[in-house]
Amino acid sequence: MERCPNCAARWEGGGTCRRCGMELTGLIRIEQAAESLIARAIAHLESADPEAASADLIQALALRRTPFAQHLFCFAQWLASVEGADATSLTHINRQLEDSRQWRKSNSRF
Ligand SMILES: [Zn+2]
Repeated sequence: MERCPNCAARWEGGGTCRRCGMELTGLIRIEQAAESLIARAIAHLESADPEAASADLIQALALRRTPFAQHLFCFAQWLASVEGADATSLTHINRQLEDSRQWRKSNSRF
């Protein structure tokens, strides 16, 4: 949090706003929870698990909508779709290889 959401005074790290006295502890806790979820999502992306990353980012966005979390969510979704396509492509390639092996075997007598 950079500024008080009530009066826009610069936040200097306390639990209440120095200008209007608004209680900020709850908001700070929500912000920290969102940051933890984003950190966990990044760890999931590092271990090639975009689905788990997406689930954490949906929760993070529900707590706090930031452009970074939104972009990261789009990236995780894209990564999940690309990995799905890759798995399909690999299955297709393997099937083609198996077909060609079968063809060679069945035609080896000629
Ligand atoms: Zn304030």
